[in-house]
Amino acid sequence: MTRWLAEYAWLPDHAEPTPEVLIEVEDGRITAVAPLVGGGTPTAGVEVLRDATRLPGLTLPGLANAHSHAFHRALRGRTQGGRGDFWSWRDVMYDVAARLDPDSYLALARAAYAEMALAGITCVGEFHYLHHGPDGTPYADPNAMGAALIEAAAHAGIRLTLLDTCYLTATVDGAPLVGAQRRFGDGDALRWAERVSAIAPGNDHARVGAAIHSVRAVPAEQLATVAGWADRNGVPLHVHLSEQPAENDACRAVHGCTPTRLLADHGVLGPHTTAVHATHPTSADLALLGESRTGICLCPTTERDLADGIGPARRMAEAGSPLSLGSDSHAVIDLFEDARAVELDERLRTRRRGHFTPADLCAAATVAGHAALGWGDAGRLAVGDRADLVTVRLDSARTAGVPPVGAFHAATAADVRHVVVDGRTVVADGRHLTVDVPTELRDAIEAVTNR
Ligand SMILES: [Zn+2]
Repeated sequence: MTRWLAEYAWLPDHAEPTPEVLIEVEDGRITAVAPLVGGGTPTAGVEVLRDATRLPGLTLPGLANAHSHAFHRALRGRTQGGRGDFWSWRDVMYDVAARLDPDSYLALARAAYAEMALAGITCVGEFHYLHHGPDGTPYADPNAMGAALIEAAAHAGIRLTLLDTCYLTATVDGAPLVGAQRRFGDGDALRWAERVSAIAPGNDHARVGAAIHSVRAVPAEQLATVAGWADRNGVPLHVHLSEQPAENDACRAVHGCTPTRLLADHGVLGPHTTAVHATHPTSADLALLGESRTGICLCPTTERDLADGIGPARRMAEAGSPLSLGSDSHAVIDLFEDARAVELDERLRTRRRGHFTPADLCAAATVAGHAALGWGDAGRLAVGDRADLVTVRLDSARTAGVPPVGAFHAATAADVRHVVVDGRTVVADGRHLTVDVPTELRDAIEAVTNR
């Protein structure tokens, strides 16, 4: 039994944080949550408080990064200064993809996931399509690259949902994969399913989920194969959706409908599905997503970096889609920044303020993200949930004088002081306990770039 005394804690369904909350943890689970002020009583008297470890600042549930491509971390600062758009950025990304092997992927992902731990992220959804050798030949273990990611998350001390991604074609009209893309392909969706079925995470920290890269990459007649596999196995299904207007145009030209309509017609949408981005939906698309309770993962720091546009977040939520967050290309790994961007981008678009409450932003960063990744027992400071505690300083230059409810509008990843994942301390006083994050990032990135 470990006892923590949070100066403030953000409890489920509360509009703002609660002061002085005792949190008891046993075997990686929260066993008691007791506010000491305003009528709450600890499970025992003063004795209990004496052996509790105090957590100064604001303690949040674990943050969930629902959309990651770990290897994109190598691109940070290498593409931002130039011109171009998503497509020219993608060419640079493919250069890095072509250089990775299971060992260098492990080193890079381990460092990137450890950076996430420092940022308060306790669970990541890795949208993984870098499956095979550089010319498309499978490794001796056809899941060697996925295994590297699972191991990387274990080293970094965070949970992972390996969203193994079906990626078969280069364009909506079925052009074959070329160049670096050959690493992504399994030939067809049945062979994708056969390979993915062989993955055994072998550890409580990792789970397997499914992903459809996009309507560009999986032919319409094979969408149901992937969706059916996810459904039969009871795992989450993710899909990039309408990130680019060009994807919508190509889909209309080939299939006569929007990507969302195509996914709906092939059984891809539903409460266990998360659409990533959905930046350029029609009103009918929003209704399809919301009525099916399909989640939407917004990645505002990536969308701004790639000049993708602003997704209509308020309309998505009103239509019925739960919203989660992802750092995606890792131009920034800071879910506080992504969370407030959901509100701030709406302000830029509408020239009005107040679309999402601070509690809404907290839920997107925590419980909604965990649910999107298939961890229904995480993301809340509640009895029975996984014991993820993320404590944010309220005494830094950025957060001093800020009321706890304002944390999502003031704090950054650098203000995360203490991180507990499944009851285990991973970050203490702002330092990762097992990974030298800056050194490992530098070395891993130098190994796969032109320096
Ligand atoms: Zn992505």
